[in-house]
Amino acid sequence: MIVAQRKNIPELLSIVEKHRKVLLLGCGTCVTVCLAGGQREVSIIASALRMVAKLKNRALEVEELTIERQCDNVFLEQAAEAVKNTDAVLSLGCGAGVQALAERFNGKPVYAGLDTAFIGILEERGVWAEKCAACGQCVLHLYGGICPITRCAKKMMNGPCSGSREDRCEVNPDRPCAWQLIFKRLKEIGQLDRLKEIKPPKNWRPSQSGGCRTIVREDHRV
Ligand code: SF4
Ligand code: SF4
Repeated sequence: MIVAQRKNIPELLSIVEKHRKVLLLGCGTCVTVCLAGGQREVSIIASALRMVAKLKNRALEVEELTIERQCDNVFLEQAAEAVKNTDAVLSLGCGAGVQALAERFNGKPVYAGLDTAFIGILEERGVWAEKCAACGQCVLHLYGGICPITRCAKKMMNGPCSGSREDRCEVNPDRPCAWQLIFKRLKEIGQLDRLKEIKPPKNWRPSQSGGCRTIVREDHRV
């Protein structure tokens, strides 16, 4: 899922400083799961914004709504009426959701209320970790399902770097060495021989360099 975290209340207040009536719009998908922008967070953040605005003698009306998905036009229609009736939208969706909103409701200011961080999973209660950088050409099959791009601090495609200490990464000792995990996993699945193959430099062309990436499926076009 996409993992995000909320901006703090003073920053949110300054983002909407030009407006008197704001729609705080949550998203019911990834950001709900990572506890950043679902219905519960909409309610908490709306209350905090109202309270702090009142303390500062600032006129601010905050409407609340959460839709199933902000990154999908089909669901954006659920917000159309509420968007029409406010001065601006403060989105608690990911960066894709915020931009989908801005494209659908052009002419209405739309702001990001979250910092979108990465594609990841919940590792343990309260801890989310990055697992995929959307590099555009997945090589997980070569590494026992452990991504060297996101999980090795040096992005080593032919590791390890020999700096790890007691299974910890030398760059970030809070995290396990990805290459130790790769070795362990390949051993478990009987594919250690993969480590004998020197991997060629990764093709970064499908990655983020070069602007906005698109995928075109001719069989789905009308
Ligand atoms: S190899 Fe690329 S697509 Fe696959 S998990 Fe890693 S970053 Fe994501
Ligand atoms: S210690 Fe392991 S995870 Fe850290 S940079 Fe070296 S090989 Fe990568």
